[in-house]
Amino acid sequence: MAEKKIPYKIYLNEDEIPKQWYNVRADMQNKPAPLLNPGTLEPMSFDDLRPVFCDELIKQELDDQTAYIDIPEEIQNFYKMYRPAPLVRAYCLEEKLRTPAKIYYKFEGNNTSGSHKLNSAIAQAYYAKKQGLKGVTTETGAGQWGTALSMACSYFDLDCKVYMVKVSYEQKPFRREVMRTYGASVTPSPSDTTNVGRKILEKYPGTTGSLGCAISEAVEVATSHEGYRYVLGSVLNQVLLHQSVIGLETKTALDKYGIEPDIIIGCAGGGSNLGGLISPFMGEKLRGEKNYDIVAVEPASCPSFTRGKFAYDFCDTGMVCPLAKMYTLGSGFIPSANHAGGLRFHGMSSTLSQLYHDGYMRAVSVEQTAVFEAAEQFARIEGILPAPESSHAIRVAIDEALKCKETGEEKTIVFGLTGTGYFDLVAYQKYNDGVMSDYIPTDEELQKSFDELPKVDK
Ligand SMILES: *Cc1c(COP(=O)(O)O)cnc(C)c1O
Repeated sequence: MAEKKIPYKIYLNEDEIPKQWYNVRADMQNKPAPLLNPGTLEPMSFDDLRPVFCDELIKQELDDQTAYIDIPEEIQNFYKMYRPAPLVRAYCLEEKLRTPAKIYYKFEGNNTSGSHKLNSAIAQAYYAKKQGLKGVTTETGAGQWGTALSMACSYFDLDCKVYMVKVSYEQKPFRREVMRTYGASVTPSPSDTTNVGRKILEKYPGTTGSLGCAISEAVEVATSHEGYRYVLGSVLNQVLLHQSVIGLETKTALDKYGIEPDIIIGCAGGGSNLGGLISPFMGEKLRGEKNYDIVAVEPASCPSFTRGKFAYDFCDTGMVCPLAKMYTLGSGFIPSANHAGGLRFHGMSSTLSQLYHDGYMRAVSVEQTAVFEAAEQFARIEGILPAPESSHAIRVAIDEALKCKETGEEKTIVFGLTGTGYFDLVAYQKYNDGVMSDYIPTDEELQKSFDELPKVDK
């Protein structure tokens, strides 16, 4: 059969948007370890989690058996406003690199929030509304998750309280205004509106905050206000489940042209886009049907997979959240302030952590100047201004394509382009001015935060 000419963009039809999410845990022999109650160290039950999370989302969180879960029609309809997302053949980049490799990227930046996070935000807002709640609380770091959730909450007419890491609140006033335009209230964290915030401020006066600290505040507000629950934009199993739309669409598009990827690459902060992108491919790998080289890319300044410990840890600084077993740098780890590229969370999805631990995927870490070099190269030839987070995946996709140039291999590379970088221009400015530096934590620094890991014998 003659090879079909592959277009620059492989679009799907509206009826090819997934109608079910795929739950990769169903195909895992070693299931991700359960969340533990930090007091009793017993697995968190449905009832334990109810004060914090929405009922239906808890069911999804705890379900490691059901492979396919129906996407409610209301969510499908919302997806239709900005999906399917294109799978792009990076012909221009290939030519520029003079590589025999074939490069594809799945572009998730085609919505106002500018990232994949809307895929889960809309699902979480839907279940909160369906449960009759008044609103939800959350944290946001760089602001993409807060923006996505604000959009989702305004669509379903829910109140949305966002705790935004103080340094971002101050450096990214435009993000804040987008969220407020969609009706969210935005509070810089740590703040004096919560007990945990006041405690942190007392202990570290002048601190510019961290994700872990903002999570603690958002959880406190949710559990102390009638009709509110807390929602999280990454790390959790339910978020990976919702993000499986990325991978399912990618697979459908590749299958249309009979394309089989050799390498699948994604950036990894808490693991949600990567988990979503790889899920159907990982399913095939777990069932022994196919073999893919699956690569997580993380910043050298926050290297949870490549230098972290696989252990139970807190997801937040205030130590109010359940314990998750994951690759972690310790909940006290705060990446250097010089680190401009996002992906700052100290831990990693427990699903991906288990898969990595069992050898189903590998991880590499990259330094931020090399990431911005790749971002610049990509922007100049493919046109899209990538988010710094996404550019970690671009870096490694380019590196793999250059390896193919040396060996002459015609590998097919697929990577996740998770979003756009319009709100990251302070970081781009640093890079353009030549004042961006690389920071790699020392073993001693990491050891200090490992020493604080909770002692759990599981
Ligand atoms: C949040 C974000 C990420 C990282 O989060 P994951 O949960 O690891 O996917 C990556 N890219 C963009 C654009 C983001 O907004």
